[in-house]
Amino acid sequence: MTTKQVPSTLQKMGLDSPMALALHLPSRYEDETELFTIEEALNQGRFSSTQTQGVVVRNQVLFRPRRQMLVTIEDHTATLQLRFLNFYPSQQKQMAVGVHVRVRGEVREGFQGPEMVHPTVRAVAADTPLPTSLTPVYPASAGVSQTVIRKAVAQALRHPSLQDSLAEFLPKKLMAELIPGNDWPSLQSAISYLHQPPADANTQALLERTAPAWRRVQFEELLAQQISLKRAHAIRRERHAPSFAQPVKSKSFEANLLKALPFKLTTAQERVWEEIGHDLEKSFPMNRLLQGDVGSGKTIVAALAAARVMDHGYQAAVMAPTEILAEQHYLKMKEWFEPLGVRIAWLSGSLKAKEKRLAQEVIENGEAQLIIGTHSLIQENVSFSKLGLAVIDEQHRFGVRQRLEIQQRLGAELFYCHQLMMSATPIPRTLAMTYYADLDVSVIDELPPGRKPITTKVVKATRRDEVIGGLESWLSKGLQAYWVCPLIEESEVLQLQTAVESFEQLTQALPKFKVGLVHGRLKAEEKAAVMAAFKANEIQLLVATTVIEVGVDVPNAALMVIEHAERFGYAQIHQLRGRVGRGSADSVCILMYAEPLSMAAKERLQTLREVSDGFVIAERDLSLRGPGELLGAKQSGDAMLRFVDLQRDAWLIELAQQAAERLLAEHADLVERHLERWLGSRAEFLKA
Ligand code: ADP
Ligand code: MG
Repeated sequence: MTTKQVPSTLQKMGLDSPMALALHLPSRYEDETELFTIEEALNQGRFSSTQTQGVVVRNQVLFRPRRQMLVTIEDHTATLQLRFLNFYPSQQKQMAVGVHVRVRGEVREGFQGPEMVHPTVRAVAADTPLPTSLTPVYPASAGVSQTVIRKAVAQALRHPSLQDSLAEFLPKKLMAELIPGNDWPSLQSAISYLHQPPADANTQALLERTAPAWRRVQFEELLAQQISLKRAHAIRRERHAPSFAQPVKSKSFEANLLKALPFKLTTAQERVWEEIGHDLEKSFPMNRLLQGDVGSGKTIVAALAAARVMDHGYQAAVMAPTEILAEQHYLKMKEWFEPLGVRIAWLSGSLKAKEKRLAQEVIENGEAQLIIGTHSLIQENVSFSKLGLAVIDEQHRFGVRQRLEIQQRLGAELFYCHQLMMSATPIPRTLAMTYYADLDVSVIDELPPGRKPITTKVVKATRRDEVIGGLESWLSKGLQAYWVCPLIEESEVLQLQTAVESFEQLTQALPKFKVGLVHGRLKAEEKAAVMAAFKANEIQLLVATTVIEVGVDVPNAALMVIEHAERFGYAQIHQLRGRVGRGSADSVCILMYAEPLSMAAKERLQTLREVSDGFVIAERDLSLRGPGELLGAKQSGDAMLRFVDLQRDAWLIELAQQAAERLLAEHADLVERHLERWLGSRAEFLKA
């Protein structure tokens, strides 16, 4: 089959070769292998699909209560009514009186007795033979019919090139050793089986994707991913990066920073700093994730890494996904490094053209030693004079494309520098073994001393006045508070409006205190001004949309009220409430919710009230939403592993990992073919 023979609608779905079609596996099946008389069909249990046939004895189009077509068919046992709420003239013709049709659908109780609504209909003679295999139903874009896909797939499966593309090349011996009692079919038979399972196939195992044929396909896919990750790892170790040993002189930035700190590093911070310091001494680029719950003190560790690099005359860059976050880093780093004489540059999208040019200039000529900013650090025309370290905060919150850009910029285009990612979202084990396999991980599993646990309360929105009353006595003690307004995903305007309403209401209700408002529509300087006033306690209550997210640090603000908490996800609330509990006061987070609550929201709020461990919350989150969002973008997960479900198939990952190691070591020649078969153009995404 040449690509010309594949209809353009299919090519648009990416189904442009026999191999692509062969790997376009059904999402479910229909059983057309059995045929019942109408009487039998009527007597079967409701809600399950059945197939029967008969002659059309009546066909009428009604206009009340709405336009619809009613067709009655009959065999020697009984009659059956078919109802179509949408229909084409061609269907009227197809089901004209006297035509013999075969129909498939669910028999349901209608107003006038049992009927099939929108059955699948084929006009065929009564003795037309039944298929011997289950009928595949394929994932399809709108407007692409199953018939077209089925035909193209069947044709593809007969194509001679498939013999080669699906050829077995996993050594038998290897498979036997890895999987004792292996009952998996060969890849080629697994694929044909999945497209055309025999009538007696275990449909449950097919649907749940646990059948041996599915296992075989999933294994191959995971294997490709593991190989590709291991190769990325090997390639990284062959690259050259400057090596930064611990400076001997006592006047280093590193030593001075440690000396000037108003606190002592926690044991966990010391441990991760040692791990990172070790990486920096190597002559290949570091690729490390620093993981730690909100407030665990990741920033100082990043600052130490930056100090080490600057001590060697190299530049360090710190990048965050949002302007607010980047700004927080900027302020913190300024506080720590300016007294030491470090020249810091700030670069964000909202800078005026002239300021931007100025920043770019000092970055390029090497005057700037520490560069902090948003994505614009790599997007704008920035060339570093001597970049030694890139710190990327909350990396998963950059989009997939942006991440790819970052990697490309930091890799090939510039030169290879050390990379430190930071995240408050823990990576569950299955993800760590797959998408993040080429990432070394350091964990800060301890909060700085003196942190009080946050008490989380769940309160109905009808008790808003009481909450405001409590807020007043809280502020009267000289403490500050946040009021977080609901997230309204559909409309930023609406979100702003509710924030303004709450702001006005609270300003009126709390005349003795200064209430501030910060939201996404404010300019960067305006935001910064409000935040600064809040930090200086010129503002006591800060009403905010979620722009305060991760990173804001005001220890005197130990109370947070979250309106419509039911609209937030696990991670959002956990990170939001991480803003409080930073000072010496007891911290409280009040989750206000409006009825009606969905079961999921109820469970979420309850968990958040009872659990404060970010790792536990992340696990719950993952089991609920799947890995897509953790990875930063839904499609990234889908694009790489099409047939594997990280939870269901966790045990396969380990197997694939072992197989990948052995293949690379013993059968390097097979590796290329395997990757090509599975990943093709998607291989790039694995690096992001
Ligand atoms: P996150 O890990 O969420 O980025 P930060 O780095 O912002 O946390 O740290 C939270 C707060 O804790 C900051 O005010 C920081 O200065 C402070 N901090 C960090 N490490 C320690 C420590 N060892 N002892 C006391 N306070 C610390
Ligand atoms: Mg942080």
